[in-house]
Amino acid sequence: MTRTSAALKRRGLAFFRSKKALVHNAKAVMEVANAKRLIAVVKANAYGYGDTWAAKTLNQELGVKDFAVATLDEGVRVRSALPDDCDVILLGVQPAFLADEMAEKNLSPVAGSFDWLLAAKKAIDEKDKKLPALKIHLAVDTGMGRLGAKTRAELASMYNFVCAEDCFELAGVMTHFATADEDNQPYYDQQLADFMAMVKGLDIPEKYCHVANSGSALYHHDEVPTDTIRVGSVLYGYNPALPDRPSPIELEPVGSLVGQIWGVHRLLKGESLSYGATYTANEDQWVGTIPVGYADGLKRTLSGMTVLVNEQEEKILGRVTMDQIIISLREPVAVGSEVTFIGKDQEKEIKIEDVAEYGDTIPHELLTGISSRVPRVDVD
Ligand SMILES: *Cc1c(COP(=O)(O)O)cnc(C)c1O
Repeated sequence: MTRTSAALKRRGLAFFRSKKALVHNAKAVMEVANAKRLIAVVKANAYGYGDTWAAKTLNQELGVKDFAVATLDEGVRVRSALPDDCDVILLGVQPAFLADEMAEKNLSPVAGSFDWLLAAKKAIDEKDKKLPALKIHLAVDTGMGRLGAKTRAELASMYNFVCAEDCFELAGVMTHFATADEDNQPYYDQQLADFMAMVKGLDIPEKYCHVANSGSALYHHDEVPTDTIRVGSVLYGYNPALPDRPSPIELEPVGSLVGQIWGVHRLLKGESLSYGATYTANEDQWVGTIPVGYADGLKRTLSGMTVLVNEQEEKILGRVTMDQIIISLREPVAVGSEVTFIGKDQEKEIKIEDVAEYGDTIPHELLTGISSRVPRVDVD
């Protein structure tokens, strides 16, 4: 991984990303889940990596044609980066009054209720213009509690309405698992059984169904009942279940977060540093200042965490501030030396899963929190 990048030198911080790793992970999860079709979840800027970067890479390198985001504006951006024969699903609830815009821009919303479909039809009918049919994914709520039909009767009325109205086209039927990456097999089994009973009862063809998120594709691949998987985190190379369960496939982390030491100085015995002066030197020591802070996504709860400098473990001292942190140094290093927060430094590595555990969160939250102030740099 080459890090001699102009962006890193200019900003003192960069989020490096690897297309090779992304493609490797996509292939590996499709293989283990025995999937023929991948809906690549690129919401929240592709979990921090860059949504158009991830979408274009998967489309160009693997021929992936199905993508999913959470919001309308994410959808517009991803859509514009992709060829016309791709589909972009909007997973979150969207305002139904924007249904005409979604039809016009070829974005496929998830319908969470019959009322939503009624309101969407109204918005489309009110437009004088002839619009392309709005591609609908019907949501079934089997235990996530966010959106979707809860009964077979409700799903039946939604399904029949979408099939009957020219302004709509059925594109999918889905549910979302709440515990696929946890040790809660009974809850998972119940969700899956409820979903299958509902779609089978209505004779909805299996090709429309997509249910498997990363946890489901990794840990329940024998039970994944459809050819389609709808995954995010596993594409980006981390295991959603850590530290509880090892991944059944070798995942390659897609990103690494690297900074540069821009100041090296001596902290004398008894001197303190950073806000609150929470750290005081027991003896004279070397410290380094790095231009990264919580405004970049390095959370305040990561104070005290381990980082790597020249393959040596060092620690963040005192509070993480908005724009800068101070780390311990065993010896004075050159200004411009690299600091690895997430990723590899030669043979040593700091895993995102371990950082997340230290910060009492999950990798998704850390990655999506890496702000727009941090340059994204391609390594291959
Ligand atoms: C975020 C999301 C996914 C992807 O989840 P991962 O665990 O990251 O694979 C799939 N489906 C829905 C509905 C989602 O909101």
